[in-house]
Amino acid sequence: MFHIRDVDLAGRIGRLKLKRGDIETPAFFPVIDPIRQELGVEEIRAAGFKQVITNAYLLLRRFGDEAIRRGVHGILGFDGIVMTDSGAYQILEYGGIEVEQDTIIEYQKAIGSDIGVILDVPTGDVDYEKAKATVEITLKRALEALKLIEGSSVSWVLPIQGGRHLDLVELSAREASRIPYYSIYGVGSPTEFLERYELTVVLKMIYSAKKHLPDSKPVHLFGAGHPIIIPFAVALGVDMFDSASYILYARDGRYMTDYGVYRVEELEYFPCTCPVCSRMEPRDLAELPKDERVKMLALHNLYVIKRTIDRVKQSIREGRLWDYLEELSRRHPRALEALRVFRRFHRYLELRTPHSKGEVYGLKLYSVESMWNPRVVRFRVRSWRLIETLLEGVEELLLKPLLSDEECLGGDAGVNVIYYTPYLGLVPAVICGLYPSTQHVKSRVHDMGVLDDLVYSLRAISAKARSRGVRVKVGYCGSLSWTLVVAMEARMLGLDTIDLC
Ligand code: ZN
Repeated sequence: MFHIRDVDLAGRIGRLKLKRGDIETPAFFPVIDPIRQELGVEEIRAAGFKQVITNAYLLLRRFGDEAIRRGVHGILGFDGIVMTDSGAYQILEYGGIEVEQDTIIEYQKAIGSDIGVILDVPTGDVDYEKAKATVEITLKRALEALKLIEGSSVSWVLPIQGGRHLDLVELSAREASRIPYYSIYGVGSPTEFLERYELTVVLKMIYSAKKHLPDSKPVHLFGAGHPIIIPFAVALGVDMFDSASYILYARDGRYMTDYGVYRVEELEYFPCTCPVCSRMEPRDLAELPKDERVKMLALHNLYVIKRTIDRVKQSIREGRLWDYLEELSRRHPRALEALRVFRRFHRYLELRTPHSKGEVYGLKLYSVESMWNPRVVRFRVRSWRLIETLLEGVEELLLKPLLSDEECLGGDAGVNVIYYTPYLGLVPAVICGLYPSTQHVKSRVHDMGVLDDLVYSLRAISAKARSRGVRVKVGYCGSLSWTLVVAMEARMLGLDTIDLC
């Protein structure tokens, strides 16, 4: 059903088997409006999308039995993978329930959807009691739907609700994971938060759901079509996305970039080389008739999303998804907040990050956030575990700055030498040379946070050594300020220092 090919952080490249064929994940499903669609499905396919999503409720209202005769693929004129949403969101938006869950499930089966969704109740941004009700009703409907979905060739999505109330999201996911026959989980209603760039709320929602869901099944994030959320969501283990943002933005004259959205009239040049942007300049676009303009903008927006998905996949292949997130964190202040929230998920991410990949790429260490890269966290935990045992066997410890990779070679520095280096902290000589102690490139201008970390590391090892009666001597290099910071702290702690350079 779902085969995972590669992993980095908690993100994965997978293959999802569906009745009409496979799709590779992470995958983005452009929303197709069955009634009004400026951009044709052929163009969407030509932009690289083999899957789309449309709305079963709108199909039912507009086409009724005709969609059963022609099938949803026939109505849309699309022979790829078609996911249908139950239309719960529209029902919520327009008020009232005009359709029973059984009707909408049977309809999705009858029109030949590849992926279907039960009639959930999206939470949105509401208070606790209302959110709780959406969780309870959705779970009740998921159970009621079992008799209809068991044995069906459609792959069914079970939506997780709860909104910003994380204990409800956890409850929703825990209960959902116990219900059989669903092959995909969905995380519901992040759209309102994304509209306000509240990435951290959405990431906490995803994490709260994911930690209770089995890693063996794919997770869909509903209504997320902004390029900046996609890499972060994938890094937490989201496999599928859908959104109408590409077309809604286009109708409103909004132009997506990897780092934010512009009004097209603000642009004198296009910061993009997709087939649309390389063919014309902003003023050419402005002169097009409205429909053509919307179409071109929508197509450009889709190319931006496609590029993001491809870049995420390549980063997973290289084991460099964290680097990509750090890069994004400098493109928008909300993305920096998002990356900082990842600190809270370090255990979850570290457990899923592979220990080795075919090819080893050196880590890039830029700033204090680089210290939360799961590969750095893993190394630091390992170092500290080793230091605990080293302290048992020696009378004196020498702390030396790690000045070059060559120092590690041979590992003959002895059991009583521990190196210190920015970002990685303490590196016992016996594991110096192990990834990533020498396989990294770091900025040589250090954030205060990085220097503070060295000082904290020194205080910690000094306290541990003192309690075991081990003497600590600290080496430094008069010409390197980061070693002077450590030496100064050492003197304040009453330790001997020695200039090694
Ligand atoms: Zn473009």
